[in-house]
Amino acid sequence: MSKNKSTGSTFDSFLKEEGIEVTGTNRSIDQSKDVKNASDETDDLFHKELKKFLIPKLRSASYRWPARSEAIKRARKSRGLYGCEMCGCDMKNKEFICDHIEPVVPLTGWDGKDWTQYVTRMFCKSENFQIICKSCSTIKTDTEIQLRKMHRQRKKDEQKP
Ligand SMILES: [Zn+2]
Repeated sequence: MSKNKSTGSTFDSFLKEEGIEVTGTNRSIDQSKDVKNASDETDDLFHKELKKFLIPKLRSASYRWPARSEAIKRARKSRGLYGCEMCGCDMKNKEFICDHIEPVVPLTGWDGKDWTQYVTRMFCKSENFQIICKSCSTIKTDTEIQLRKMHRQRKKDEQKP
């Protein structure tokens, strides 16, 4: 039995370069599926690590974002006194939350990979910031979490045959 050496040789050398061992000529579909899943897992892990590293750094940088300071100035009633832009209650300095009206993570979800989208939503225009009290913020955040969950569920349902 003679083997046709040219068939698949480019792919095989690619696999070798990638450190993927090829045993025999009868690679089954299952084996190539395993290879794909393994690389997907490495990719997911990489994006997870990147998120863990980058998000806190971006968040702390955003505290010095001029548009944010502008929004805080806008909500200032008098020295050390701020008005909640949702319920109108009075808040002392450091009692308020600078909220993104349009949240950083869209209600339709975020793939965890599109950093341009994430950064431009975090470092947004002053009009997208509102100064709110803690209870308004809790209500808003909880609602957003519920809406994201609903969206994820709807997407899952749509994928079902
Ligand atoms: Zn409020």
